[in-house]
Amino acid sequence: MKAAVVREFKQPLVLEDRPIPEPGPGQVLVKIEASGLCHTDIHAANGDWPVKPTPPFVPGHEGVGIVERIGDGVTRVREGDRVAIPWLGWACGECEYCTTGWETLCELQKNSGYSVDGAWGEYALAYGSFVGKVPGGVDSFEAAPLACAGVTTYKAVKVSGARSSDLVAIFGVGGLGHMALQYAQIAGAHVVAVDLLDEKLQMAKDLGAAYTVNARQQDPVAAIKALGGADVAISLAVSPKAFEQAYASLRRGGTLVFVGLPADNEIRLPIFQTVLNGTKVLGSIVGTRIDLQEVFELHAAGQTEVLYEKRHLDDVNDAIREVEEAKVKARLVFDLS
Ligand SMILES: [Zn+2]
Ligand SMILES: [Zn+2]
Repeated sequence: MKAAVVREFKQPLVLEDRPIPEPGPGQVLVKIEASGLCHTDIHAANGDWPVKPTPPFVPGHEGVGIVERIGDGVTRVREGDRVAIPWLGWACGECEYCTTGWETLCELQKNSGYSVDGAWGEYALAYGSFVGKVPGGVDSFEAAPLACAGVTTYKAVKVSGARSSDLVAIFGVGGLGHMALQYAQIAGAHVVAVDLLDEKLQMAKDLGAAYTVNARQQDPVAAIKALGGADVAISLAVSPKAFEQAYASLRRGGTLVFVGLPADNEIRLPIFQTVLNGTKVLGSIVGTRIDLQEVFELHAAGQTEVLYEKRHLDDVNDAIREVEEAKVKARLVFDLS
C-alpha cells in the first residue's frame, strides 16, 4: 500500500510502498477513501510542538473509509462499515477523565498520525472503539474534515457557552474557522469573522457571518469593540498576535477559547483586566466520540456545509506548501478512493 511518511522533521514527506498492516486485538483495518490535511499534520511533520512524534510515521487524523478487516474483540463496528479515524485514536476508558466525559484529556491516549500511524495512506489501522461511524447520508470527502476541523470547533463552541444573541468572534477563517462560524450560528450567535485574506472573509460571509474584519486593513479589537465587544472569541489562528487580539476584543464576562496551536507558543495576558473584567480563558482540544457523532448528525441533517478541494496523495508536499502559503480557502482532502 502507498503511504506518505515523515522520515525526518522539516523534510519533504516520502511516498512509500508498505505492507498492508494486520489489525491487532481491538483494531480495525480501514481502506481509506478520503483523508484530510489539517495544520496539525504540518506541525507534526516539522516537529514544531513541545511533545513530538517519533519518525518515521504516517500523518493524518481525518481519514474516512471502509472497514476491511477487524481484529479480535471488536464488536462496535464490522466489515463494510464506513468509519472516520479522528485525532483521538484511543483512550484508556478507565481513568477519571475517560469516565467523566473527558476522554480527550486521557493521559494514556494515542493520537492518529502523531503517536500512532495515521490516515495518509491507502490503508490505516484504527481502534474499533474509537472510530466515528459515518452516517449514510454524509459524503466521505465531507466527513473527513468533520473528523477534526468539524468536531474540534463544535466542541470549542460548546465549551464557550455561546448562545442566542451572543456575538462570537472567530479569529482565523480556514479549515477550522469555516466550521466554527457555522456551529456558533447553530447555537444562535452572531458571528464576526477575522482574517487577513479577503477571499476567506468572503467565504465567511457566504456562510452567514454577520460581520467580517480584515485584520490587515483594520484593527480587529477596535472593530469588535465598536460592535459592543465579543461575548466569545475563538482563536484558530496560527499567530500568537491573533490570540492577544481575540482576548482584547472581549466584552466584560467574555470567554476566550484557545484552539489553534501556533508553533510560537507564548502570549502575554494582563492579570488586572482579566480579574476586573471576569474574563474566562479556556483551552479546547478536539472532541469526544459523542461530539463527533453529533457533528455527523448535524451534517446529515443539512445544517452544515463543508468546503474542501481534492488532492492526490502523490502531491502531498505540494499540498502542504499550499496550506503553509495560505493558498487554501478551507480544507484539502486527499482522494484515495
Ligand atoms: Zn486536526
Ligand atoms: Zn483515560
